[in-house]
Amino acid sequence: MNELIGGQDACPGCGSNLIVTKWESISWEQGSTDGKIVISALLPICVCRACNASFQGAQAQEKKNEAICKHLGLMTPDEIRAMRQKLGLSQAGLAQLSGLGVASIARWESGQLIQGRSNDNLLRLLSYEENIERLRNALSPQSPRTSKSFQGNALSPERMEKFEESKKHFTLRKAG
Ligand SMILES: [Zn+2]
Repeated sequence: MNELIGGQDACPGCGSNLIVTKWESISWEQGSTDGKIVISALLPICVCRACNASFQGAQAQEKKNEAICKHLGLMTPDEIRAMRQKLGLSQAGLAQLSGLGVASIARWESGQLIQGRSNDNLLRLLSYEENIERLRNALSPQSPRTSKSFQGNALSPERMEKFEESKKHFTLRKAG
């Protein structure tokens, strides 16, 4: 019985774990920012062997989210995971670099949650390695930009004055 699936989805009616899945083409209405849209997808439907109830489990919800992403032109969970792995980053690493929440990234990748348009745009930009490099440079304390601006401050007239004064003290002390 290879269509029996693990105990993650127990029957909501009777609690039985004797669940089989069958794939069905399902259409549903989906609310979106542009009003209601109709989406169709092949979904795994759970059927309880004990009481014959049928229901959509977690796997169906993930497939639904994937279909919604495709319909709206957003990155799918698989695409997000593949992008991150191609960059050689862990979920925590991507979170640290981008400022995105690590829990959000995990939910997007598992299909539990769909990212909004702005986060989708950010994810797309992060898929270019040169943009990752830009972020790394901007966040690094030894970045050339940071040290240049520090030099700028050091050469301001006030700083110069203090510097000259400290040189005098140094000379005096050295002489004494
Ligand atoms: Zn049942």
